Order: sequence, then structure tokens, then C-alpha cells
Amino acid sequence: MAGPYAWLLCWAVAVAFSLGLTYVAPAWILPLFNSFTPLEDGPLRRALETYARKVGFRLSGIFVMDGSRRSTKGNAFFTGFGRRKRIALFDTLIKEHDTDEIVAVLAHEVGHSKRGHIKQRLALGVIRTGVVFYLMSLFMNSPDLFAAFGMAHTSIYAGLVFFILLYTPVSLVLSVIGNAISRAHEYEADAYAARTTGTPQAMISALKKLSASTLANLTPHPLTVWLDYGHPPALQRIRALSALIR
Ligand SMILES: [Zn+2]
Repeated sequence: MAGPYAWLLCWAVAVAFSLGLTYVAPAWILPLFNSFTPLEDGPLRRALETYARKVGFRLSGIFVMDGSRRSTKGNAFFTGFGRRKRIALFDTLIKEHDTDEIVAVLAHEVGHSKRGHIKQRLALGVIRTGVVFYLMSLFMNSPDLFAAFGMAHTSIYAGLVFFILLYTPVSLVLSVIGNAISRAHEYEADAYAARTTGTPQAMISALKKLSASTLANLTPHPLTVWLDYGHPPALQRIRALSALIR
């Protein structure tokens, strides 16, 4: 089982597991903790359906999730895939936002989907896991490395320690790159929402409300953003959106 290619097998298993969770979690696991109810018929539902139809996005259901029970973070997400895509909206989102703002939030999520961000994010995660296992395999199978530390033979435990030492900087670099890509995706999805709803205004006011309700730091240090932020600070997103108003 060990062998130099064991890492490939570990990688395949880890990827299968995480893909499984990604697709299974919204459909099977979330309903255990939250309730999903179909959005009642009314102006909001009609506005969301009209928008989806306009941009040619198949939406097989619109649900309200009692997200406020757990957290005020997050606002909307898709579940299911292919033709069975459904959008789940947090009840807090519906409570605190008007119809135009909620349509803008949907438009932002549709933007992620149409621009292929979801697939890119998955691919990146797959690559990242591969790097982890590959590095681990190098450390487990390298007699030279153990010799360099004055050890007569390879040891799994020492290999793990070496791996963790080296992996920390590698992981930092990977996460900085991943965050930069994710922030670029947010700007793209915002721009998509502005363009397809015809105005950046609704997205801007939704962002204002969302950042107020999550108590987001409005002006984080740029280095903090660079290291840690998968989303650009709301203020910068608002500025980028405002630049679209002519
Ligand atoms: Zn987003």
C-alpha cells in the first residue's frame, strides 16, 4: 500500500470525499439543521423568476432557509446542480432587504455560476489537495532528508514533522493565491449583477446592509486583505460598483 504512488490514491479518495460533501451537504445535511420552505408566491418570487428567465438561468426552485437560527453571515447559495439548481435565500436576507436588493444578490450568485467560478473553485481545491499529498509523499519516502537530520532510517513520525514544517509556508502561498482569485471572482460577480439588473445601485445598497449586519470591518489593513480575505472588503466592492455608474 505504501509505495511511491500511494499519494495518488490518497488524493483520489480525498477528492471524491470532498466532492461528495460539496454536492451532498446542501441536499442532505443542511436540512438536518435548517428548515427550507418554498418562497411564497408574491412580488419577490415573481421578480426573482423574471430575472432568472431574462438571463437564461434555469432555476428549479426558490427556498427560504431559516439561517438566522445559526448565523447572520451568508445570504444566499445554490443547491443541486445541472437542471435541478435551486436557490436558498436566508430568511434574514428577505427580512432586511427590498426586492431589488434580493434580485441583485441572486444576480451576483448567477454571475458566479455563469462565469464558471464554482468549477474553478472546485478545481483549485482539487489541485491544492494534490499538492498536500504529493509533498507528504516526498517527505515520507526520502532517505536523504532523514540522513540530513542524522537519522539512520525513515520514520513516519519524523516525516510528518518535516512535512508540517515545510507545508506551512507552502500552504500560506496557496491560500494567498486562492484568496486573490476568489476576490477577483467577487468583483466579476458584482459587475455581472450590475450589468444584468441594469443598475449597480441595488447591489450597492445590499452590500451596505449586509456589511452592517455582519459587523464587517469596513477598512481592514490591505495586508490583512491580501493574506486572509476571500471576499474584498465591502467598501472596495461598493467603490468598484460605483465606478460602473456613468
Ligand atoms: Zn460572491
